[in-house]
Amino acid sequence: MRIVIFGPPGAGKGTQAKKLSEYFGIPHISTGDILREEMSKGTELGNVVEGYMEKGELVPDHILNAIVRKRLENESSFILDGYPRTIAQADALDEMLSEMGKPLDIVIDLEVDDEEIVRRLSGRRACRKCGTPYHVEFNPPKVPGVCDVCGGELYQREDDTEEAVLNRIAIYKRKTRPLLDYYERKGILRKINGSGTIDEIFSNIIKAIGVEK
Ligand code: ADP
Ligand code: ADP
Ligand code: ZN
Repeated sequence: MRIVIFGPPGAGKGTQAKKLSEYFGIPHISTGDILREEMSKGTELGNVVEGYMEKGELVPDHILNAIVRKRLENESSFILDGYPRTIAQADALDEMLSEMGKPLDIVIDLEVDDEEIVRRLSGRRACRKCGTPYHVEFNPPKVPGVCDVCGGELYQREDDTEEAVLNRIAIYKRKTRPLLDYYERKGILRKINGSGTIDEIFSNIIKAIGVEK
């Protein structure tokens, strides 16, 4: 099973990808999580991407393409979250997967309106250790400030400030949303309503995928 989970910032990609990863027993590959880990370790790559990320700008395509190629090399199944985000990335992904003989099965598009995005991102918290997303109101952890999954500390991302969020929404519309046509033409796009409860949306995704594990 090779899935891309797609949608604007705050659509619930990470939340649903974690559930799919558990359900199917396949890895959740989040480019945002990979980049944040590089930053927190203070690697050379982390230092290069930091400036882009805190402003909500896209990190250059060649950097992401190299990261994803390396990460996908040894996986036959995966859920890709946060990549591709530009047509150039989609072309690169297509090329690497066809070289590896493992094309995508499905692209799940989660759509939510701008107002809901802002509500979701302004209350988002994430685990410093494992990246699991929470929401102070809509999806709170059992113990405030502590990750249910690993006990790690929850924090608010630097790019979830209002200014960076508005920038990310604008960039999504300009550079990322055109990918919907790209995957529609390939016949693998499935649109899912991204509003509703987390469990309702998950069940609709499972139906769209159309297989029992
Ligand atoms: P969101 O939760 O808003 O969808 P992510 O965690 O996926 O955000 O990404 C956070 C930031 O990491 C992006 O704003 C961008 O700076 C960088 N990033 C992640 N994936 C990509 C990508 N595929 N191309 C370019 N930049 C990326
Ligand atoms: P993305 O990866 O697309 O940026 P996240 O999965 O991080 O999105 O979700 C963004 C925020 O919205 C988080 O705070 C998350 O807890 C919350 N959230 C996710 N799904 C829902 C939902 N169905 N209803 C309300 N809040 C949600
Ligand atoms: Zn955690």
